[in-house]
Amino acid sequence: MVNEGVEYYSSWTISVKKKRTCPTCLGYASNKPKENCNHPRHLMEYKQIIQRGRNYKKSYRHTINRRKRVETRKRKKMIIELLGGKCVRCGITDLRVLQINHLHHVGRTKRPHESGSDFYLRILDGRRDTSDLDIRCANCNILYEYERSFREELIQIAQ
Ligand SMILES: [Zn+2]
Ligand SMILES: [Zn+2]
Repeated sequence: MVNEGVEYYSSWTISVKKKRTCPTCLGYASNKPKENCNHPRHLMEYKQIIQRGRNYKKSYRHTINRRKRVETRKRKKMIIELLGGKCVRCGITDLRVLQINHLHHVGRTKRPHESGSDFYLRILDGRRDTSDLDIRCANCNILYEYERSFREELIQIAQ
């Protein structure tokens, strides 16, 4: 750092837009210093402002993603309640393990729109029929898939 502190720093002006202006290149601190600008404060401020912007975007994205996940979870909860609120096989009511089960097992790859928050929304809007869906917990869902031979019974083969 240049040690001419006071002189250097006092020369900074605040523009009408309340932006700090570099006395060397006459650019705003938020703009990249021009090539002929060797003002250490300008470069420092510019870097800080850019970093602040990045941090803001990062934390904001986090907030949006979280909000989306919460919304999706709420929709899922409503649908589970709509479809009986418990596993049709073992009766567990713990939302953390309950899943919406396709009776005819149509994989996500075949119907990519049959997952996530839009799928839930279509059910809640009444645009998606629920007669081929029921609620099962994760364990019962896997057992159901074995029983219906959607999954290969590898355990039997091994024995
Ligand atoms: Zn400058
Ligand atoms: Zn169950």
